[in-house]
Amino acid sequence: MRRALILWNILSPGAFILLWAAGHFWIGLAPLFAGHMAALFATLNPGCSWWGPVRTDFPDIGQPVWLTFDDGPDPDDTPWILEQLRRRDLKAAFFLIGENALRHPDLVRAILADGHLLGNHTQTHPQFSFWRLMPRAVRREIADCSAALAKITGSAPALFRPPAGHKNLFVHPALEKLGLRLMGWTVRGFDGSRSDPQAVLRRLLSGITPGSVVLLHEGRIAADGTRLIQSTLPPVLAAVENLARGNAG
Ligand SMILES: [Zn+2]
Repeated sequence: MRRALILWNILSPGAFILLWAAGHFWIGLAPLFAGHMAALFATLNPGCSWWGPVRTDFPDIGQPVWLTFDDGPDPDDTPWILEQLRRRDLKAAFFLIGENALRHPDLVRAILADGHLLGNHTQTHPQFSFWRLMPRAVRREIADCSAALAKITGSAPALFRPPAGHKNLFVHPALEKLGLRLMGWTVRGFDGSRSDPQAVLRRLLSGITPGSVVLLHEGRIAADGTRLIQSTLPPVLAAVENLARGNAG
């Protein structure tokens, strides 16, 4: 699909010019427009695999659900999250921002010491511009974060998640060079942009089923000034435990 999409966008401008010259402006414009729209959809739709695989196959460790935390480490949230997971003996994946990791290396090591997975979430988290970055900037964002995590932990991560789930045609080639897999999710409550814990929770809890990959964010403040994750995580963990009991029974 990736090759077809690239080829389509290379050939359609030429076809447009030829058809326009022949007096068929609108017939020529349609494939040109469709090609651009398809490329934009593949870039901005987090679950779309047209530019390359978006995976949700986290390791099977006997848990009904994989919890994933983006945007950390965060000095207010990470220790609290680790404590909640420890109490319930659950493992999660933390997709860290390189700059945050360098600011809080002890938190990165604490995540790893508890047996969780670490992932690359770019060096500076350019969430509004990542989708339109050119190849060199894409490579730098990804490589710098891997280097930061390797410096702190001694090994480079194998997983990557792009800011806001956006990925353009330059992202997968950069990931291949660094041995990274692009990981998506299946359930999110939009806690990255919403500050009402109940709205976030309603969406999360209605989506969680066996096999779900749940996206949560660190470092977010609720409308009432409290830490958002402290309202949303306990009910999510209870739902995961219920599923685990159901599976066991
Ligand atoms: Zn993020």
